[in-house]
Amino acid sequence: MPQLTNIGTMGAGVIATDAYVFFNGQHKMDITGGYEESVGLTGGFGQGGGLGHFTTLYGLMVENAVEFKIVTADGQVRVINECVDPDLFWAMRGGGGRTFAVLTKYHVQLHPALPIHMYNLLAEFNAKGNGLREILTVHAENQLAWSQELVTGGVDYLVNGVEFDAVLPFTDDGSKLAALMAPFVEAVSNSTEITILMSNFTSYASYLDYTVFSKADAKATEPPGILQLLASRLMPQSLFTTTASIATLIDAVIYGITTARGLLPDTDITATQVVFEMPLSNPDTERKTSVNPAWRMTLWHVIHVAEWTAPLEAAAQNNITLGFLDMLAPLKASSPEGGAYVNEASYEEPEWEETFWGDNYGRLWEVKGRYDPEHVFDCWKCFGWRGENE
Ligand SMILES: Cc1cc2nc3c(=O)[nH]c(=O)nc-3n(C[C@H](O)[C@H](O)[C@H](O)COP(=O)(O)OP(=O)(O)OC[C@H]3O[C@@H](n4cnc5c(N)ncnc54)[C@H](O)[C@@H]3O)c2cc1C
Repeated sequence: MPQLTNIGTMGAGVIATDAYVFFNGQHKMDITGGYEESVGLTGGFGQGGGLGHFTTLYGLMVENAVEFKIVTADGQVRVINECVDPDLFWAMRGGGGRTFAVLTKYHVQLHPALPIHMYNLLAEFNAKGNGLREILTVHAENQLAWSQELVTGGVDYLVNGVEFDAVLPFTDDGSKLAALMAPFVEAVSNSTEITILMSNFTSYASYLDYTVFSKADAKATEPPGILQLLASRLMPQSLFTTTASIATLIDAVIYGITTARGLLPDTDITATQVVFEMPLSNPDTERKTSVNPAWRMTLWHVIHVAEWTAPLEAAAQNNITLGFLDMLAPLKASSPEGGAYVNEASYEEPEWEETFWGDNYGRLWEVKGRYDPEHVFDCWKCFGWRGENE
């Protein structure tokens, strides 16, 4: 909920790293940015959702939006907020970039800077063992407790190992995160299926200090020049309640991890990211944003990722794309009330309107028709897209 003090202003094109240096480094304020520092905060990120380490605490970036300066399809410059053009403001808080207007200024709620605590695990699974299932299960069993205490983070699960980061922005010496992670650390340490390469707790005085770690990690895991394909699903809290439902969830995730590995040569990378930076503590009961309401029940954002370096033949790429879509089937079957994050979904998602925006779809259509009746703003599976021939 905007407090109308500590409002930050960014022009279009400001990338996350510059926002962290300016707001956190110079002004000791945190901004609801994302993990990857090259992402433009005001564009697709800040209009489609905006997920990062402060999401559990303060909500998505769109929930922290206070006012936009924009140019609409009729050429008019407008300043929009909850009082002026409220429907358009609502639509641009989740409807996605390049859809309703060109944004030139983004006013956003900032928050007093917090220390950042991190737990980082790097481990390998013993060959032909059960390590992947074991660690996914103990992760899922702990997830609700972590989310309730606003722990965020992301994990890269591979067929043969895992890189696990849990992050807590909090004013203490790191004791709270250590206590919350203790059952997980103990279970992993005692496992005969898992070989730990690194298991560390680190505290950073500020988010900017933490980016020294995240920068290095992003450079290693997502270097410039790679080609990447995603397929993802938002997995609801209801799946984390019983041993049976957790087993169904884990089966669905493992199916994706193993199927992906078979779709690309061993020299290319496949991994499944489990992101747990969820806006669970921000229920948005008044529906002030247009993101898929499925976000409010989500505990895991599961993203199957393929990465390769040399361009592929169209047929080979198509094969991977369709294979990745098929891989989502068990995740979709176990989450009929779920959806997908528009910014990190498969670009071939077939039922994309409902999957990306849920029941906000009707109101978004009405706003699109009112402010951009000629479809001046149009792009592949953006809101209002009418197909390749339009
Ligand atoms: C390496 C990497 C890491 C990522 N990490 C995260 C993450 O941690 N959290 C997260 O939520 N997402 C993440 N994403 C996804 C990210 O949110 C989307 O890729 C998003 O679309 C990026 O927005 P952009 O403006 O930087 O990109 P662009 O490709 O420049 O723009 C995306 C869309 O928005 C439109 N647009 C851009 N600027 C404007 C404007 N001023 N007005 C109107 N429309 C505009 C563009 O036309 C385009 O259609 C990541 C993506 C990558 C590639």
